[in-house]
Amino acid sequence: MDLRLSEEHEALRETVEAFARDKVAPVIGELYAEGRFPYDIVAAMGDMGLFGLPIPEEHGGMGGDYVALCVAIEELARVDSSVAITLEAAISLGAMPILRFGSDALKAEWLPRLASGAALGAFGLTEPDGGSDAGGTRTTAVLDGDEWVINGSKAFITNSGTDITAFVIVTAATGVRDDGRKEISAILVPSGTPGFTVAPAYKKVGWDSSDTHALALVDVRVPAANLVGERGRGYAQFLSILDEGRIAIAALATGLAQGCVDESVGYARQREAFGRPIGAYQSVAFLISDMEVRAHMSRIAWREAASRMSRGEPFKREASIAKLYSSEAAMENARWATQVHGGYGFMLDSAVGRFYRDAKVLEIGEGTSEVQRILIARELGLPS
Ligand SMILES: Cc1cc2nc3c(=O)[nH]c(=O)nc-3n(C[C@H](O)[C@H](O)[C@H](O)COP(=O)(O)OP(=O)(O)OC[C@H]3O[C@@H](n4cnc5c(N)ncnc54)[C@H](O)[C@@H]3O)c2cc1C
Repeated sequence: MDLRLSEEHEALRETVEAFARDKVAPVIGELYAEGRFPYDIVAAMGDMGLFGLPIPEEHGGMGGDYVALCVAIEELARVDSSVAITLEAAISLGAMPILRFGSDALKAEWLPRLASGAALGAFGLTEPDGGSDAGGTRTTAVLDGDEWVINGSKAFITNSGTDITAFVIVTAATGVRDDGRKEISAILVPSGTPGFTVAPAYKKVGWDSSDTHALALVDVRVPAANLVGERGRGYAQFLSILDEGRIAIAALATGLAQGCVDESVGYARQREAFGRPIGAYQSVAFLISDMEVRAHMSRIAWREAASRMSRGEPFKREASIAKLYSSEAAMENARWATQVHGGYGFMLDSAVGRFYRDAKVLEIGEGTSEVQRILIARELGLPS
């Protein structure tokens, strides 16, 4: 068993590490404080090919794998989570549904632009009445001739309202299944389609430079060919997309947890109290050692899940374990990194101040911690 990165993955890691340090770190504090979307950083990441990492070359991507994507996300999140989630959501929620389940026409139309970073796609599953109970989708889509007519609303959708957002794939009830449950399908709605409105950006606790909006759909008409995947298979398909996405979120959480270690080591070596660097006090050093343990275990967890996925083995259980463990590790590390930094840790312009605000949503998005525990219990064969 070998969880080390390949030479290509290590080279990518070093490239993204340098990019995050040299291009993201110097500007992100100001963007975050002003709640601005990082357009220049996104453009630079597009030039580097990061938006095309797991997309085949025939569709304009880099032809890499999901491990490559996770490596890049982890390195970005060591410095900033808004940038990391912008990349994560653009690929795992925007591009992957088309790559995995879209028609050839949808792939040809959208993937090259998504892979270049010139356009972002979003995925709208969560609704104002609930996200965990995804089968309860209230948005409806009715086929009228060769068009879908969509009505409903979505909440908290990442990358849905930027100047370069090209579309949102929404889940909608398209009928009733034989067992009486809703038939759910996924349909691509291009930005600017009449009846499709994007609400003003939310004011959030964290991820302040990431783009998040509520969406409304009133008699929105799109071609029947905008169905992503098979009619009625939408539910199973997006569940599999979420399984993959959880590994990427685990990598993001690992990056945040590691960023807490990086910042804390640096600070504890130079900050003095009572005549000694604070890192010389065991109570501080042990806090940082425990942070390192959590970051390390998180990394092992996502790499194991990703390597199973790359080998084509089942990975649902491992993805949930990685997402659950690493998001709680990130939260814990953010708490203690802030403590190590004392008053400076509570300032918005400190990296750990951002980490503290950004960590919480990792226990909520792409399946809450409770949902992960439900999925793990189910994998263990417990009754539900
Ligand atoms: C910043 C941000 C970005 C997001 N981006 C996206 C996006 O791009 N696309 C998208 O579709 N969604 C997105 N989401 C939504 C996110 O996925 C949901 O918030 C999440 O799935 C939880 O859904 P909810 O908020 O409706 O909470 P609910 O489902 O209402 O849950 C509320 C609480 O009840 C608990 N709970 C629910 N059911 C059970 C149960 N059976 N057993 C035990 N506990 C339970 C939950 O764990 C949670 O603690 C985003 C959210 C945020 C905050």
